[in-house]
Amino acid sequence: MLTNKPSWLRAKLPTGAIYKETRSTVEHNHLHTVCQSANCPNLGECWSRGTATVMILGNICTRSCTFCAIQTGRPTELDLGEPARVAQAVRKMHLRHCVITSVARDDLKDGGAGVWAATIRAVRNLNPGTAIEVLVPDFLGRMELVDVVLDAKPDIFNHNLETVKRLQRPIRKTARYDRSLSVLNHAASAGFATKSGIMLGIGEQEKEVEEVLLDMQKAGVRILTIGQYLQPTPKHEPIDRWVTPEEFAHWKEWALANGFEVVESGPLVRSSYHADEQSARYGIVGVASNSEPAAAKAG
Ligand code: SF4
Repeated sequence: MLTNKPSWLRAKLPTGAIYKETRSTVEHNHLHTVCQSANCPNLGECWSRGTATVMILGNICTRSCTFCAIQTGRPTELDLGEPARVAQAVRKMHLRHCVITSVARDDLKDGGAGVWAATIRAVRNLNPGTAIEVLVPDFLGRMELVDVVLDAKPDIFNHNLETVKRLQRPIRKTARYDRSLSVLNHAASAGFATKSGIMLGIGEQEKEVEEVLLDMQKAGVRILTIGQYLQPTPKHEPIDRWVTPEEFAHWKEWALANGFEVVESGPLVRSSYHADEQSARYGIVGVASNSEPAAAKAG
């Protein structure tokens, strides 16, 4: 296991009234967040600026990807009250841009697509101006289920490739590289702003990174995130190397020169990190439904 975390990976500690308010909104609405479940290093920063990424469909995932901190097993929850509570939380946080994700629910006949669609609609009904970004699983490549989500009209459709082609099998157990690309292409072909991301430092080679980025670009992905892989526990996939800020800057430049429109690339970048700023650069700017402290809460 690599030790001596470099200085550029030191994240901010959670502090202040806005952080406490975010935590209270999450707890009060009995929501799960990927910020907590995935041990995200940015929790202090994001929650202190009043934004959290809600994770729907429970907090137990049916898959067991070897990079991911989220608990795996047999899910017990199918909480039909969840969409309304997510909508309330978005309103309470005054979000002009919200990011919603979920665990994989391969145990459900519809893979959770129905709850996904209900959540998008509930958020939109209560927060008509808020931009909605969804970070979805692959629905086992069943495009009729992807369409259930798309029919609810999210503003940004995100599905992560996570890593290069060669490392898909060892790292994303049940997923398939081509299947994920097909899901992205399906959304892009339907006219949706499409986003994806990868982690570096998990064993990939330079040529392989170029390959995955070009494959995403061909699939129609226009917004890209690249961040450092962090090993959640000693049982997870080991970190291969610390990727320097200079290398992240190189990949940003490379991706922009190869057809991506918005690229966020840096050690602490995650799909939802400053997602509002990425989408604004793409031209998607939401409006907070309850606008009092909008300036302080630009999540
Ligand atoms: S980067 Fe995303 S997952 Fe991490 S704390 Fe921020 S909002 Fe949550």
